[in-house]
Amino acid sequence: MTKNRKIAVIGAGLGGAAAGALLQQAGYDTRVYEQAPAFSRLGAGIHLGPNVMKVMRRIGIEDKLNAMGSHPTHWFSRDGRSGEYLSRIPLGAFAREEYGAAYITVHRGDLHELMVSTLDQERLYFDKRLVDVDDNGDKVIMTFADGTTDEADLVIGADGVNSRIREKLLGPEAPTYSGWVAHRAIISAEKLKAYDLDFEACVKWWSEDRHMMVYFVTGDEKEYYYVTGVPEPEWNHGTSFVDSSREEMRKAFEGYHPTVQALIDCTETVTKWPLLERNPLPLWHENRLVLLGDACHPMKPHMAQGAAMAIEDAAMLVRCLEEVGADRYQDAFELYRTNRFERASRVQKVSHDNTWLRHDEDPAWVFGYDVYEVPLKQLQHT
Ligand code: FAD
Repeated sequence: MTKNRKIAVIGAGLGGAAAGALLQQAGYDTRVYEQAPAFSRLGAGIHLGPNVMKVMRRIGIEDKLNAMGSHPTHWFSRDGRSGEYLSRIPLGAFAREEYGAAYITVHRGDLHELMVSTLDQERLYFDKRLVDVDDNGDKVIMTFADGTTDEADLVIGADGVNSRIREKLLGPEAPTYSGWVAHRAIISAEKLKAYDLDFEACVKWWSEDRHMMVYFVTGDEKEYYYVTGVPEPEWNHGTSFVDSSREEMRKAFEGYHPTVQALIDCTETVTKWPLLERNPLPLWHENRLVLLGDACHPMKPHMAQGAAMAIEDAAMLVRCLEEVGADRYQDAFELYRTNRFERASRVQKVSHDNTWLRHDEDPAWVFGYDVYEVPLKQLQHT
């Protein structure tokens, strides 16, 4: 198989966009198929740690992201009620020196738009919901909801928590509702000026069973964002999110610090999302199909590393294809799994437990990771 044979990426989320961009840069004939008719700037933020910024460097958008994002000097953890500091994790210049790249927080929509812009736009297909794949041994036939078909030599399932490719490999099984929801709201920083309070660039407010993570999503610090984790025994809405309200937020964070109350008072719209998980999967690839990101390891977002794992997966998958050669794609896929499973599963577990950076700890194993420099664990051939 030469590089001009076809690779299909299903899903143009953050993992799929990274995989598509890196494969195209490496010279593979890569097409990306996305079910959405278009993307919109949904109200959400995202952390990009140094581990993921090293992949952004390779894609060629590190400088743009550095200009776009907020650069917190620390990740602070604080007691939700008293405001007492539980941890102060140095980021800023320390992160650049120690971990080899910046730690930034950005608007998720801005990041996504930038990543998608790096794809060959002639090979990016919107409104293409994959409904079936038939791996016939020689190639894969993909069938889309609009009745069209296409074929590829290899298919990457970057199609998120309800992945159709995962279902093809392992059978139908809904993800597990974790029992926690996340509220998300973007607040105009202008409104916060009315308060004599300090709104820090990256802070997580904690109590026994819930938290609120808060940070700026733009470099000019005009947009402030919060995302919560709050227990809610059941999720029966049948949609990926629902509207929430200031009243619901006040109830959920009753007794919390005045800074948190100010954020709730300034909230105009707030949405509520179920947090879904799966146990580590026994299979990441079979024949010509391979999974990455939330398709194979969805997690609670409490380390702010879910997308980072999807993007690292994409980079490692391309590294393994380059290392082994795409002709030996099954070995390349197994090498990829061998080099990703342990790390992704560990991040899934810590995210599930929601202990990350609550107290002072060394985050080097996450932030210091360089997917391009880490020595590859080799396959054990029998
Ligand atoms: P997705 O982003 O879900 O992308 C999948 C794509 O595939 C979508 O565009 C979808 O439309 C498309 N698709 C699905 N099915 C099909 C189909 N059949 N055919 C074609 N296309 C299809 N991660 C971080 O790193 N940092 C954070 O700060 C952070 N905060 C988070 C906060 C919350 C509240 C939540 C819920 C998650 C957060 N995450 C964070 C996690 C992160 O959002 C996910 O881990 C990440 O989006 C996974 O990327 P992905 O590309 O694997 O999947």
